Amino acid sequence: MLAENILIGSTLPDKTVCFTFDDGPGQPSFKNKGPKTLELAQYLHDEGIVATFFMVGKYIKKYPEIVKQVKDLGHIIGHHTTNHPDMNRAFSKGKNLAPELAVTEHLIKDYVTNQNIYFRPPFGRWNAEMSKQLNKDLKTDLNYIGPIGWHIDGSDWWFWSKFDKDAAIKCAEHYLKLIRAEKKGIILMHDSNANKLWGIIRRWNSKTLETVKIVVTELKKEGYSFVSLDQINFEIPA
Ligand SMILES: [Zn+2]
Repeated sequence: MLAENILIGSTLPDKTVCFTFDDGPGQPSFKNKGPKTLELAQYLHDEGIVATFFMVGKYIKKYPEIVKQVKDLGHIIGHHTTNHPDMNRAFSKGKNLAPELAVTEHLIKDYVTNQNIYFRPPFGRWNAEMSKQLNKDLKTDLNYIGPIGWHIDGSDWWFWSKFDKDAAIKCAEHYLKLIRAEKKGIILMHDSNANKLWGIIRRWNSKTLETVKIVVTELKKEGYSFVSLDQINFEIPA
């Protein structure tokens, strides 16, 4: 069931974080520029970290083999709609959003564990009326958990809009500042970018892998632990 409000789950102990990445999968193109979902998944795996990749259906269709490999590296494949719409806006215009969920559910259903499918709406936009409608319209055997939110959002994509050679260092410093202030929680980052307007530039300039390497190295030095999304309890109190 999709909850009426955005869920951030049970409280984690101090110095404990959970990595989540939205908008992929993607792969580098010319000059090795662009999203590096697989390399990121491999790096995190080598560091003993299980992350969640909230993937967009239109990119899953383009790079189906990446989804399988990310799963094989032990990560969680999450659902981030098929076309990355602003769901609130679409719903207010009377659009039926069930297909946005059903199409991507079909694409990732073989990669979920225990029938649990983690869902995060684009831009975190959500409302109670829409959740009721979706729970009614969505014909599924899977257990939807969500909408999943976050505690720490450093707007990594903003750094990729600049043509700055130190973008990864600056972005990592920004995230580290936020993490130290918050002490714990779910971290939102983007391994690609699904936005229509700036998406191409942000994808092309993406330094997420480089940023994560700096952040993880520093957090380990500072004694942080890493949990996966399925170690967090998202059950809604009755
Ligand atoms: Zn997104």
